[in-house]
Amino acid sequence: MTKQIRVGNAAIGGGSRVTIQSMTRTDTRDREATLKQITLLAEAGADLVRVSVYDEECVGAARYLADNSPVPLIADVHFQYKLAIGALEAGFAKLRINPGNIGSADKVRMVADCAKAHGAPIRVGVNSGSLEKDMLAKHGSPTPEALAESAMQSVRILEKCCFNDIVVAVKTSRVADTIRAYRLVAATCDYPLHLGLTEAGLPEEGFVKSAVAIGSLLVDNIGDTIRVSLSGDPVPEVDAAKKILRAAGRLHDVPDIISCPTCGRTTIDVVGLATRVREAVPYCNAPLRIAVMGCIVNGPGEAREADIGIAGGRDGCALFMKGEPPEAVHGDPVEALVSKLKEKGRIS
Ligand code: SF4
Repeated sequence: MTKQIRVGNAAIGGGSRVTIQSMTRTDTRDREATLKQITLLAEAGADLVRVSVYDEECVGAARYLADNSPVPLIADVHFQYKLAIGALEAGFAKLRINPGNIGSADKVRMVADCAKAHGAPIRVGVNSGSLEKDMLAKHGSPTPEALAESAMQSVRILEKCCFNDIVVAVKTSRVADTIRAYRLVAATCDYPLHLGLTEAGLPEEGFVKSAVAIGSLLVDNIGDTIRVSLSGDPVPEVDAAKKILRAAGRLHDVPDIISCPTCGRTTIDVVGLATRVREAVPYCNAPLRIAVMGCIVNGPGEAREADIGIAGGRDGCALFMKGEPPEAVHGDPVEALVSKLKEKGRIS
């Protein structure tokens, strides 16, 4: 199990819930636009939001953002150690830096000391596009081994400053390399891992690539916080992250809805009913699997793993609850399903 660190009121690692991150796209100096986007991301379900801090004016906006944000903020800082210190002093709860580009050992130490004084963790690690020259020379290209070695080099720099509240990331835009790099780091240290595929692409392709990369790691219990990087509006990143967590079995307050692909035996509107079930049961009190199956012949059998389900029958629908005999539904099947879930205390 990874070490647990705290980012404001959120926990990362140590068996805690996998947190969802996103990043603002606004000009940070435009504090109102940036706060609005942070708020939208938080309302969508982001636990943490990262904000670029790239000049003194951004530091000037940081206090306002930190004071008004509904979620802890992470400052993304490159090259200038004073900006990192300024963001921490303004109330940002975490830093994302690359110690290799912050400057001399003294400057890195000043940043680490400031983070420690403010109880803020630091995320380190490289993207394939920012790998150090010596690593490129040694490995020939940004291989997974090069990324993992570079990330651990950054970790050692902070450890030399007696700083251990570290989160590690090793992102590439290639799925297989990203998976391999994270596996290498996970085998090397117990710091929590921030999973992501960098520059994943436009929303549709980026989501699929991220799902394969992040999902593959999560199902092997690797990863403590995730960010799905999609070109464009950041809010869909949060929904994408939730879908990946749900598919990987790591999000338990939202039901897992399974529905059959339909075939010649289908007797009900599977798509319409599954869509209505998703809207009618947005949350659950504990892990819950709901099935919507097109026929009574194979439906219940195929949905054996579900807790509750609707299956089409010759004269309507049947409702089946795990451990109970199927019941014929005389009214609206979605209302019958919701009522059964309430009766069993599975939803509020
Ligand atoms: S559950 Fe029934 S309708 Fe749906 S795919 Fe299977 S056999 Fe076809």
